[in-house]
Amino acid sequence: MLLSARYVLPVSAPFIENGAVLVRDGLIVEVGLRDELKARYPDEEERDFGQAALMPGFVDLHTHLEYAVFRGMVDDAPYSQWKLQVMRKESALDAEDWAVSAELGATEAVRSGITTIADITDSGASVGAASAAGLRGVIYREVATMDRSQVERALADALDDVERWQQAVSDRIEVGLAPHSPYSCHPKLFEAVAQTATERGLPVAMHLAGSKDEHDFVKYGSSLLGQDYREASGWSGIGWLPTGVSPVRYVYQWGILEVPRMLAVHCVHLDEGDVGILAKTRTAVAYCPRCNLKLGMGIAPLQELMDAGVLVGIGTDSPASNSTMDFFDEMRIGLLVQRGLAGEARFYPAERFVRMATLEGARALGLDHLVGSLEAGKRADIVAVDLSRSHQVPTQDPYGAVVHTANQDDVLLTMIDGAVVFDRSAADAEAFAGLVGRADRVQAKLRNWSGA
Ligand SMILES: [Zn+2]
Repeated sequence: MLLSARYVLPVSAPFIENGAVLVRDGLIVEVGLRDELKARYPDEEERDFGQAALMPGFVDLHTHLEYAVFRGMVDDAPYSQWKLQVMRKESALDAEDWAVSAELGATEAVRSGITTIADITDSGASVGAASAAGLRGVIYREVATMDRSQVERALADALDDVERWQQAVSDRIEVGLAPHSPYSCHPKLFEAVAQTATERGLPVAMHLAGSKDEHDFVKYGSSLLGQDYREASGWSGIGWLPTGVSPVRYVYQWGILEVPRMLAVHCVHLDEGDVGILAKTRTAVAYCPRCNLKLGMGIAPLQELMDAGVLVGIGTDSPASNSTMDFFDEMRIGLLVQRGLAGEARFYPAERFVRMATLEGARALGLDHLVGSLEAGKRADIVAVDLSRSHQVPTQDPYGAVVHTANQDDVLLTMIDGAVVFDRSAADAEAFAGLVGRADRVQAKLRNWSGA
């Protein structure tokens, strides 16, 4: 199959005008000028997208597919209140509801051009949903307890699930562990996860240094999040003393950042020296700009992270927090807020953010030998993005057009391993409407939930 378009953005090489990508057996065979590829492969079936961009699929470096139905449930609350309200509503859902929610999340992901995910799940619903949607990536089994006496049990349960899920997932998905956060895990749990993950070669992800409340809870010993969250989790009888250090330094003490494939999510509230710790331990960071802005968490210090050589990709953190899985919004807002912060002294080009959204996200997951750019020999994870609409033309720079003018409704096609997982058509719209109807029934349950 020859995919062609006005622009091809390999990401690892300059863009090609009037380009094409030859895909065979799930692999990218060649990337080049359309005329040359057509002359070389005259019998190859062609799909031409016209005034559009062909580019690598997005890597959503942080999501929770199972939270898709929580969209709009807690829209105007700062992080701590949001977290508590979402938590309380969770008990309204049964396993089937979680499955529908995760299916909605996975479907919205591929419709937004996302081909790889780093998903943290508690219910396990993303395992089936991501596999069925054809997605690639890592699914991390969440584990949390502040109760030292429960650490062994919690980890054993998590490892049982990891083993079960390893059998259930598609061969494009790997299973890892996710100690939830500094405010929900006993230090012994960090130590135990670090040891087990290192021994078994499991990837690990955790929420880290997200909100000011989390920072203050760890460093100064108290905050709304620390108290109410612990109460809601049944841990209010367990002592907690100020540690005097930042969340990054705190978890670093317990060895979790030493895990070889470590992903830290958010990293907004960093004290002096924290960036150095992340760099030294080769911890990758998921930058989640819309979630961080919408929940009043702050803005991650991207410049400092990049200057220190920390690998940074982009995450949506699911519709529960930022309302949509639109990866174009994520890039655009993530870019604009950093331009605003840095001023003219340090100006981020759009191309830089496309690279973060694709190749660097893949690198953060250790998948860049397979995906993240359009190169011969890599897996064919490709999206076609329409750039033909009036607000998009004339297109001088396709990277700029993708970041500044496109959104998820402009995704024409999403391909993973050479298989089309989303093709904008009437048939697809009808199937999607059916899923939205099923999700709406779950959302009604949440809306009407008066609490346990
Ligand atoms: Zn999250």
